[in-house]
Amino acid sequence: MLEGLQCEECGASPRGMKLCHDMFDDLLGIKYRGDGEAYRLAVACYTFQHPRSHSSTAWWFAYFYLEALYTQQLTSQEAREIAHNRYEDEQSNLPTESPLLHNTPPWTATISDFTSNVLEAPLDEALKWSHALLQDAKSYIRVG
Ligand SMILES: [Zn+2]
Repeated sequence: MLEGLQCEECGASPRGMKLCHDMFDDLLGIKYRGDGEAYRLAVACYTFQHPRSHSSTAWWFAYFYLEALYTQQLTSQEAREIAHNRYEDEQSNLPTESPLLHNTPPWTATISDFTSNVLEAPLDEALKWSHALLQDAKSYIRVG
């Protein structure tokens, strides 16, 4: 059926009848369960892991957001502000496309892993996913 339909960007296998972008659509569900922070973080993870499906602006913002949240122990709101300011500051020096566009890291976590555990603790699972992505992609990203 859906075998052989692994996501070309992140490598996730379909879950049941759902492909990667279907699982992403399902994330809207956690937004309406009142977990806006987990939702925003998960969207950033998905964007980071799917550079072909997003603009480079969206990709860099997602990267800066994940990194600020991870390395500076900020609240999600603070991390978004930092990411926004950093993007404004560095915009003119950034590559016009994601460094992951043509080099896919060996991802250790995908949206499929996230969605299988998301109902337990959405924010914890989103944080776990974001940490895995930053580790996986670390050696692929060089920014000043
Ligand atoms: Zn995918």
